[in-house]
Amino acid sequence: MPTVESVTGDDVKPTFKESTRQHRIMSEGVRNVIIIGSGPAGYTAGLYTARAMLEPLMFAGYMSGGQLMLTSDVENFPGYPEGITGPEMMMQLRQQAERFGLEVHDKNVARVDFSERPFKVYVEGNEHLTHSVIISTGAEAIWLDAENEAEQKGRGISTCATCDGAFFKDEEVLVIGGGDSAMEEATFLTRFASKVTLLHRRDTWKASKVMLERARNNEKIEIRPFRQVKSWLSDDNGLTGALLEDPRDGSTEEIAATGAFIAIGHKPITAFLEGQVETDDHGYIVNKDFSMTSVEGVFAAGDVVDTRYRQAITAAGMGCMAAIDCERWLEENVH
Ligand code: NDP
Repeated sequence: MPTVESVTGDDVKPTFKESTRQHRIMSEGVRNVIIIGSGPAGYTAGLYTARAMLEPLMFAGYMSGGQLMLTSDVENFPGYPEGITGPEMMMQLRQQAERFGLEVHDKNVARVDFSERPFKVYVEGNEHLTHSVIISTGAEAIWLDAENEAEQKGRGISTCATCDGAFFKDEEVLVIGGGDSAMEEATFLTRFASKVTLLHRRDTWKASKVMLERARNNEKIEIRPFRQVKSWLSDDNGLTGALLEDPRDGSTEEIAATGAFIAIGHKPITAFLEGQVETDDHGYIVNKDFSMTSVEGVFAAGDVVDTRYRQAITAAGMGCMAAIDCERWLEENVH
């Protein structure tokens, strides 16, 4: 019989954390935690849960990295004095988490079943069991839904200047919106386009002062307030412009452009949850107990819960919080 004092060979006693971890992993194919989504929130949750030795599994989505993959320069994430591109930052966050054992699959989660534990996560027809889940699926771009928009998607109308801007070298393009996204897209597009017209439905701005001023000071950008796109104009070759309406009096005018970038905000990616987790009227997850959702053992972090801040740094912070809450919950509830 090994004694408590034995410290060699098979008799080495695992620490409390190690023994609970081993127990959980051994319980027939049930993961400790599955992370759904891979922006700054997901990767930070992955880093923390990996360092907590929970052997996390992440479903990163077919387009891993989230919205930062569509962002050019990130200048407001502390620690990068020269700035960094969104895709580079996502690659580094992923590498950092993988170094500690985060297992990442670039696949989409089709649906989940949180009705009983262990939870079920369905991916490409396979069922994955897990004691806990961290949802960090973020948000996606909202389209304008002006007349003729559906036909012109991908034929001149885009929601991602970083992805499609280079197609419009020396051409005239439109950007729609009055927030930081619109300012960023407009400024970025001046690298390619001969002229960028920024259209906003009113003359007050959600954009931060610094980004608005940068756009204002760019001689390639013309800012036109009180202009809404009523319909998109096109010919056989694609977009030719837009019919604009002044919301103050309903008057209209045409504007010529071969490209248009819609930057009017985002909506949370929560449809795959099929209502199993409480959300608000706009689909954002409502956390109940710190980062825990209405389902015990399911946590949420980042833009999928954040209706206010929506920054890479706040998403990363929330990912950290969800990971810590998740680890504590597992220790207390999964024996
Ligand atoms: P915002 O919600 O800040 O702005 C959306 C803009 O689109 C508003 O000006 C809004 O107009 C306009 N809009 C909304 N719906 C319509 C519509 N149907 N027709 C016409 N215009 C419409 O979203 P953003 O995506 O710009 O920013 C979201 C968050 O991300 C913010 O916190 C922002 O600071 C952050 N961000 C930061 C960046 C950075 O720092 N590098 C870059 C990009 C985003 P109205 O004002 O009239 O409501």
